[in-house]
Amino acid sequence: MSQPALDFVIAALEKIREKSDRTPRASRAALARLEDTPRATSLREACTLPTQRRLETPNKAELLAAVRERVTVCTKCAHLVSSRTQTVFGVGNPNADLMFIGEAPGADEDQQGEPFVGRAGQLLTRILKAMNFAREDVYIANILKCRPDMPAGSFGNRPPTPAEMQTCLPYLVEQINIIQPSVLVALGAVAVEGLLGTRGTMRELRGRWHAYNSIPLMITYHPAYLLRNQAPSEKRKVWEDMLLVMERLNRPISERQRSYFL
Ligand code: SF4
Repeated sequence: MSQPALDFVIAALEKIREKSDRTPRASRAALARLEDTPRATSLREACTLPTQRRLETPNKAELLAAVRERVTVCTKCAHLVSSRTQTVFGVGNPNADLMFIGEAPGADEDQQGEPFVGRAGQLLTRILKAMNFAREDVYIANILKCRPDMPAGSFGNRPPTPAEMQTCLPYLVEQINIIQPSVLVALGAVAVEGLLGTRGTMRELRGRWHAYNSIPLMITYHPAYLLRNQAPSEKRKVWEDMLLVMERLNRPISERQRSYFL
């Protein structure tokens, strides 16, 4: 084959590969016949290299940033838009193996724009540290991206309603699909209800593996529960759940960690 003709074939194959998910094919005999031509390597690569090697790896941080932009201006829940200081998207490593899911921002998170920064968040950070993780290693997000509104003059936080969670859930689903963590941890029964649409008691749900879209899901108590209930037995339950998570992630577990109490 002449050089111009070969260039034409290579360009055509490149175009096919770029425009479709499939790699163009050529028979072994055809490739063998082209072995001696100077452009054989280019042609062979165009026909045989997997498409993924040629396409740029999607940048998870950029994909998440695009979702964050939509969340920042989201007005689907008018009552929450008028009461929120800002949306609370999520924080952490876009390539995380481990992703934590809570229910909704509280007053501290609404002010700071970051999930799990209040007292419960500080306890979560301590739990992560005991697991030999930094906050930056994992990804943390809530089902709801806006703080549930409270009656004027009242303090504290309220749990999100099932309707609010259903409205906001698609954003979390996008986050999970982009990050593709190896393990998910749902913190508290409300987060489980938002994620799986099922109600249950923590006694029934925690301490064993569930799945969300084929991703292993561990369910454990929300750190706020541990702040309200300081019984060592309850803290130990959460820690045992985290040991299961570490095992699932093939993280080394020391004897000290095995006998640890939060
Ligand atoms: S809670 Fe979610 S769906 Fe509702 S306004 Fe906030 S970002 Fe939008």
